[in-house]
Amino acid sequence: MRGVGRSLVPHRRIARQDEDCGRQNEVMNAEILSVGTELLLGQTLDTHSATMAKLLARAGVGCTRRMTVGDNMGRIVEALREMFGRADLVITIGGLGPTEDDLTRDAIAAALGDEMVLEPEVERKLRKFFAMRNVPWMDSIARQAQRPESAELIENPNGTAPGLVCKKNGKVVIALPGPKGEFGPMAEGPVLEFLSHLQGGQVIHSRILRVCGMGESEVEERVRDLTHSDNPTVAPYAHTGEVHLRVTARAATEQDADKLLDPVEHAIREILGTKVFGTDETTLEQATIDLALLKGATIAVAESMTGGGLGERLTSVDGASSAFLGGVISYVTEIKCKLLDVREETLNSHGPVSEPVAREMAEGAKKGIGSTFAVSITGNAGPTSDVDGKPVGLVFIGLAGPRGATVMEARFRGTREDVRRRATQSALVLLRDALLLMPDAKPSQG
Ligand code: AMP
Ligand code: MG
Repeated sequence: MRGVGRSLVPHRRIARQDEDCGRQNEVMNAEILSVGTELLLGQTLDTHSATMAKLLARAGVGCTRRMTVGDNMGRIVEALREMFGRADLVITIGGLGPTEDDLTRDAIAAALGDEMVLEPEVERKLRKFFAMRNVPWMDSIARQAQRPESAELIENPNGTAPGLVCKKNGKVVIALPGPKGEFGPMAEGPVLEFLSHLQGGQVIHSRILRVCGMGESEVEERVRDLTHSDNPTVAPYAHTGEVHLRVTARAATEQDADKLLDPVEHAIREILGTKVFGTDETTLEQATIDLALLKGATIAVAESMTGGGLGERLTSVDGASSAFLGGVISYVTEIKCKLLDVREETLNSHGPVSEPVAREMAEGAKKGIGSTFAVSITGNAGPTSDVDGKPVGLVFIGLAGPRGATVMEARFRGTREDVRRRATQSALVLLRDALLLMPDAKPSQG
């Protein structure tokens, strides 16, 4: 049982440089051990270790491995011993509560060869806490007042189980409880402060450059020379229809890291040109709307297979109404004719999933809505059968603009959702490419 507890040990008890473990000039490496059978079963997502990894980066400590084990004494001890063999710092998450499956405290003691000792002050506070709530005392509760002999306690202002910091044989172990409301404040408060001292005030800072219209292998090939550097490092990651280049630098401060990242970003932009559509959190729809505003262009959509997905992406952008006018979800054939002026004979002779229909949908939307550009999507998202002899994954994306209409044909793989997502992604890339060719709008005259 967890409740809102009282301060157990002040933060500053761990927030100090330790002679054994503070390696000012070496890069420390850390491993994270998540403990919980529910994590192994996939029932609970291990969000805390991702949070912890980010905090380690902020503190300049390299995270070299993450591992998950169930609530099993033997396996927790084994994992800890393995980790002590490789890492300077091990952070455990979960298993500090009072119940029988909370084994992390004992496992740490076993792995370090420590005895368990009682912290009377913690027991006194626990007894007071439960007495005030009229909860009968159980011996299991007192387990939370135990600690390995080499451990100091980390105050847990939102729960009853304190965290632990053990320093032994040149290694550091930090143990944090699993409940979100307890883990978060402890990790981001005293633990982050402690970590920052360990690494002698360094940060690991990343910037993401987002690339569209080019595959992962080609991106990697083109920036290969930049990927050989140690600081900053450059690494590509594939996402649906885009590639993210993560550039990461280690430096004394975030500002110093930015100074290392700037020339690498510049070099990547030189190589990939306008294929780089944004940095960090900038989405392709955001970049497209921004570009439309810069060019003074307006956008409309005509969607069949994606059922409004493209419009949804464009309108997710704050301020989209200055560029996005609207669209038609023409899911059935009659609506393509009625609202988008697609000719019946075009539909009859080519079928709804066809190049001519995509073209007429885009032209119809541009004319009917009165936009600079209109994008259309028609295709077979699957997953099961051909439609009028058109295979699953076949998609036509039309674009009507000031220079006439074009249609792109694509074959996408994956689930229904994958095909639909890839279609809206390609539609945005097509639209963005057309916008890039337009001259910038003249600034308005007051
Ligand atoms: P414990 O500290 O192991 O008793 O876990 C308490 C609660 O925190 C349970 O609901 C766990 O599922 C949750 N929890 C434990 N570890 C994690 C983790 N790594 N990420 C997210 N939730 C967790
Ligand atoms: Mg647990």
